[in-house]
Amino acid sequence: RYPVICIDGPSGAGKGTVTWRLAQALGYQLLDSGALYRIVGLKAFEAGLISADVSQAIDEMAVLALTKSLDIAFVPNNESGCVDIIVNGEAVGEQVRNETVGGYASQVAVFPKVRQALLKLQQDMATRSGLVADGRDMGTVVFPDADVKVFLTASAEARAKRRVMQLVNAGQIADFETILATIKARDDRDENRATAPSKPAKDALLLDSSTLDADMVYEQIKKHCQE
Ligand code: C5P
Repeated sequence: RYPVICIDGPSGAGKGTVTWRLAQALGYQLLDSGALYRIVGLKAFEAGLISADVSQAIDEMAVLALTKSLDIAFVPNNESGCVDIIVNGEAVGEQVRNETVGGYASQVAVFPKVRQALLKLQQDMATRSGLVADGRDMGTVVFPDADVKVFLTASAEARAKRRVMQLVNAGQIADFETILATIKARDDRDENRATAPSKPAKDALLLDSSTLDADMVYEQIKKHCQE
C-alpha cells in the first residue's frame, strides 16, 4: 500500500486546510471522510429518516439501507488538484458544507453499521496513491497502521471564533454563543459515541492550534512527517 497520513480532530481545528496543503505538496490524494458522513446525513434528512431534533429516535437499518444504496465514487479533478466526490452521478459541493448538515452527519455517524458500510470505500483510496486522510477515526480505525498520525485540536472557543470570522467575512450574521453551543454539542456526540469515538490514536502527534495560524500548523505537521 501507499503512504498514509492521518489528520484527525474536531471540526474547526484547521484539518481541512492542512490536509489540502500536505496533499498538494506531496502529490497525494486527499480523503475528506467527513464529506461521506455529511452526504449520508443530508440524504437521510431528505428521506425523512432524521430530523434537526436530536432527541428523536433514528431507524439505523433504514439509514444503513440508504447508505448502501448510494453510488459513491472518488474522481480526481485535475483542475483543482482535489478528489471530487460523486454521488449517484452528481458532484457533491458546497451544499454539505454547513453546520446544519454537519449536525446530520454526526447523527448518522453514531451507527456502527453505517460506519462499517463506508469503511472499505475509504480504505480503498490508499490502494491507488499516497493519501492524506482527514476525519475523526482515520488513525484509530480506518488506517491503524498509517505512516503518520496527527490529532489536531483547538479549544471550542478558538474554533467558534474562527467560524464567526468565516461567516462575517462571507457577509453573514454570526452569533458567537450560538455557534459555540453548536460546536460543543457536535463534539460531545462525536467524542462520546460507542463506536469509533473521536480521539487521538495512541501513536498520534497531538497538536493544539488554538494559538497557531494555518502556516504554523502546516510547518509543524510537515516537520513531523519528515521525522
Ligand atoms: O469533519 P466534518 O466536520 O466534515 O465531519 C462531519 C461529521 O461527520 C463529524 O462531526 C462526525 O460526526 C462525522 N465524522 C465521523 N468520522 C469521520 C469523519 C466525520 O464520524 N472520519
